Amino acid sequence: MGLLSGLLHRTFGFSSFRVNQEAVCRAATDGKDVLLVMPTGAGKSLCYQLPALARGGTGLVISPLIALMDDQANKLVAAGLRVARIHSGMSREDSRQACRDYLDGHLQFLFIAPERMRVPGFPEMLSRRKPSLIAIDEAHCISAWGHDFRPDYRTLGDYLPALRPAPIIALTATATPTVQHDIVTQLSLHQPALFIHGFRRDNLHIEVLELSKPRRTEFTKKFLSDAARRPAIVYAPSRKAADELAGELGRHFPAAAYHAGLDSGTRERVQRHFQSGKLEVVVATIAFGMGIDKADVRTVVHYALPASVEAYYQEIGRAGRDGKPSRTVLLYNFVDRKMHDFFLDRDYPVTTELTKVTKVLTDDFQMPEILRKKLKMDVETFAKAGEKLASQGAAVIDMAGNIRRGATSTWQSGYESQVAHRRGQIDRMMDFAQTQQCRMTALIRHFGDTADAHRPCGHCDFCAPGATQAQILAEPTAQQDRDLRIILRSLAGGSKSTGKLFIELGLTKERKDFDDLLDGLARGGLITLNSETFTAPEGKVIPYKKASLTFEGQSISSRDALGVVLRSESGTTLPSRKRKINGTTPARTRTLTVLEAAPLTSGQQTLAINLRAWRKAEAAVTGKPAFMVFSDSALGALAMACPQNLAALLQVTGFGPDKTERYGTDIVALCRANTVPPAPASNSSASRADSSTRASAENAAERPQKDSLKTPAPASKILALERSVPIDPAVLTPVQQAREVRLRQWRKSESERLGLPQFFVLGTSALRSIAMEQPRTLAELQLIPGVGVEKVDRYGPSILQVCNA
Ligand code: ADP
Ligand code: MG
Repeated sequence: MGLLSGLLHRTFGFSSFRVNQEAVCRAATDGKDVLLVMPTGAGKSLCYQLPALARGGTGLVISPLIALMDDQANKLVAAGLRVARIHSGMSREDSRQACRDYLDGHLQFLFIAPERMRVPGFPEMLSRRKPSLIAIDEAHCISAWGHDFRPDYRTLGDYLPALRPAPIIALTATATPTVQHDIVTQLSLHQPALFIHGFRRDNLHIEVLELSKPRRTEFTKKFLSDAARRPAIVYAPSRKAADELAGELGRHFPAAAYHAGLDSGTRERVQRHFQSGKLEVVVATIAFGMGIDKADVRTVVHYALPASVEAYYQEIGRAGRDGKPSRTVLLYNFVDRKMHDFFLDRDYPVTTELTKVTKVLTDDFQMPEILRKKLKMDVETFAKAGEKLASQGAAVIDMAGNIRRGATSTWQSGYESQVAHRRGQIDRMMDFAQTQQCRMTALIRHFGDTADAHRPCGHCDFCAPGATQAQILAEPTAQQDRDLRIILRSLAGGSKSTGKLFIELGLTKERKDFDDLLDGLARGGLITLNSETFTAPEGKVIPYKKASLTFEGQSISSRDALGVVLRSESGTTLPSRKRKINGTTPARTRTLTVLEAAPLTSGQQTLAINLRAWRKAEAAVTGKPAFMVFSDSALGALAMACPQNLAALLQVTGFGPDKTERYGTDIVALCRANTVPPAPASNSSASRADSSTRASAENAAERPQKDSLKTPAPASKILALERSVPIDPAVLTPVQQAREVRLRQWRKSESERLGLPQFFVLGTSALRSIAMEQPRTLAELQLIPGVGVEKVDRYGPSILQVCNA
């Protein structure tokens, strides 16, 4: 028996290595630096523990969380090993004793928190007796690109050379390729052996469900009311949400909240009771799960969109550690994205605020309160600015919170790319939610495990739409089929707000059932649902959805099969839901009445529609969501103000120098075009959105060009304006329309051939873009939003053929 397997059996009591563990242990035992990226629960700890024992001496373990440290240390103690810890939760005397034991060579493992390194004399103490191995757990915390960046980890790399020649093994569950690179650089790993493995989780059934916020509690309650789906963890976006949801769920099964706002006694109790099975559901913020080791979690629900794919993956990874089938459900809609943008803006002050802070820093530590007053900056902004500067090396903050100038003065680009990176993470998460490919494959790719990125999982909502549980997709009943056709007919006269349709048609008692019909039509490519907003007289922005027929929806005849599948949620109906069945909610009706009375004049409405079309095209070009170009409220303000030059644009709420610089020329051109008296519109009543869309689209098609003769705009800008036009089905050129018809016919026959709903073959918006752009090569095709590698792989050649026929 080899040394390593001997230790595995005798010391740890395991019968065999798990996949990949042995190779990692061998490399580290041989003294190589190692970067190990394996998902949570894969068994990374063993990969430093075993080599440390095999090498003899003391293994130094740096770990960012006390709970994690305690958990691991306790396990090692239980295995009969000599272990000490040094962290802020311990008495001074115990810490001193730990240092003495370390220096005397009594310890097999010493665990420390990263901030210990900043205690004067501590790194020197460590280097007096070199460790035999250095393990850095949760190593992604060292990277500003990681989702848990910790400034204390950042400087860790400075102290390591003095502790060498021990091999360093960096462990993490969540590193994307960018973070991996950062870890290697920051820690100055010497030609590290890279082990990136095991992201596929065969027993996880991933589902993603677009659901408005008000419906999520009801869904979660219903979904988890099936005992087979518990124990469960629900991740909530805030402490408040966690408390509320836990209260609600607690009326049906044992549930509790867990978040950083609770005292440590409560937290510890929740964790213990969940572990023992006394609690069946924990509603947690991100703080939950790191220290727990519960194998039989059957379901993980995300009540809102997580901030990054890394966080999401780690959280769903807590389901099904026992290898039995487990389900994860992500609830989201477009509002989640806005929430993240809001937090991002709050947590990352604009560059100019940081600059102000740098101006008052000196080489001596100063009290933050004094500086803050000097700058007249609010507490939160000052604290965030200081923290961000420190993370860029442009400031140093001591234990007491005093701040001085740092060594770096070139922090700005680093900071800005960090913000951009965070935004990118949110984008990636949103992309994941909207992806049209196997969910598991998408995750594996995300982590850079390219060797394993091709096999579909076979049971996510994409691979197995018939086996979903959070949503069941089914053929419509005869009654539903009739209802669907009624909706289509009523949209023939023009687009309508979905709330209005619901009331006018009276097809279902409950709004949600009606929404399911609309979703079905949208998924089937027969209608589009666009998010719109309306600004009420008191200035409140009210979102609503507008349904319009697509080209295919317009041309479907009463003999055609609709080809629509409908979602019906699973689970048993809870009593509380029955009570709600009667009566439409009065609040909603009122909202709709207000909607009818839009305060914009018809000219302003036309401008708003043009601006919206332009924004959409601009968003499509850059791949951003439309509201990141400018918000709906800025859009409303623009339509009202109709600025005729850049200076006037700068006065519009929501337009700072950045946006004005980037988009100003285009927007002003649109506004000027709008001021030219339009050709008498056939019927410009405000409610005829359809005809006004058409008329305005025509205006937009010609006026900006005329106008640009007067205002010299660069050629590329004019092009952008032209691009912005063909968005409504009515404004495709005849050639584009013909192409779209061919593509739709192809999609239909392809979906029949494969027995898949049409939208699985190709999304309607992607189809529209293909019709508009007419790609000539596979590479061009792949660049079209919503197409991507998988589709090109599967359908590329036939799409090109249809397209260029
Ligand atoms: P990670 O750090 O990757 O999240 P851990 O190191 O905490 O995972 O290990 C997760 C669980 O797997 C622990 O309960 C550990 O005891 C167990 N484990 C690790 N390696 C083995 C093995 N070879 N055989 C059986 N169980 C193992
Ligand atoms: Mg671990």
